Amino acid sequence: MAHIIDGQAIARKMQAKIAEDVAVFKAHYGYAPGLGVVMAGDNAASQMYVRMKRRACGEVGMESFATLIDANTSQAEVEIAVKALNDNPAVHGILIQLPLPPHIDEEKVLGLVSLDKDVDGFHPVNIGALAMKGREPNFAPATPSGCMVLLQEVGAKISGANAVVIGRSNIVGLPVAMLLLKANATVTICHSRTADLPGLVRQADIVIAAIGQPEFVKGSWLKPGAIVIDVGTNKVDDASTEKGYRYVGDVEFASAEPVAAAISKVPGGVGPMTITMLLQNTLLAAQRLAAK
Ligand code: NDP
Repeated sequence: MAHIIDGQAIARKMQAKIAEDVAVFKAHYGYAPGLGVVMAGDNAASQMYVRMKRRACGEVGMESFATLIDANTSQAEVEIAVKALNDNPAVHGILIQLPLPPHIDEEKVLGLVSLDKDVDGFHPVNIGALAMKGREPNFAPATPSGCMVLLQEVGAKISGANAVVIGRSNIVGLPVAMLLLKANATVTICHSRTADLPGLVRQADIVIAAIGQPEFVKGSWLKPGAIVIDVGTNKVDDASTEKGYRYVGDVEFASAEPVAAAISKVPGGVGPMTITMLLQNTLLAAQRLAAK
């Protein structure tokens, strides 16, 4: 039976340490680290994520500033909001809640975020540094960093391991693959056109699933003893629950758990780590800016 990686507990422990460090920072500088969020549109999931991030900031003693913009906003209005956060000395980290409405040029908006405040690590310069050998980004994206912490917490040997990442999105798959490569894993990135996905997964010591397909990866695909990080968060109908739905991962937990050495939970695995890494990056940004 696999060790269940409890992201909730790991996140709680890390957030307690962040809260202590924020208190020290405040006592020293007389102000709190601040996270600024720009959200455009009325995507319900995005609204929920923004609320969760604001609540998490409050819990560790950080300030949060949200700029909420209407869905039919203009490119100029979004750019002005980002520039205002760049210029606001009380804001040390900036997050652009994705996705932006389809008519907004996401690449341009992400490229406007101050490199010193790019706590989500999505500025093209930071992503470029993440991709290059011998370079380090100012900040690495939150969800992929959370996956790496979970692997470290479970004692995974990453250097020399065969790692299979399923998914190549800019937010999860691609950056987590780059972090694994930086940690000296041999990385295979799979996607919707990959031939023989089960065959590739079977060779993996580490599997990161970030597809967005409920219970897609089966236990029979796994190499016995593999470590599985399930990023997927899929809402499925379930009449037996009070709400009528529940969340499942991209990995079929019931068949994977007897085969894997360790597997993260959904919910309660990668999700809580994402917010924690964002808080950690915001504290780091405030410390660096204060030291300048
Ligand atoms: P995207 O939809 O942007 O990317 C999905 C990726 O999976 C694509 O690269 C796609 O391939 C690949 N894919 C889709 N179907 C298949 C398939 N049948 N076989 C192989 N590959 C496939 O999703 P995200 O990366 O944004 O998110 C992935 C999952 O992670 C979602 O469930 C999301 O909710 C969750 N998530 C969780 C977070 C957390 O904090 N816990 C944060 C962010 C996301 P192709 O490129 O060829 O289309």
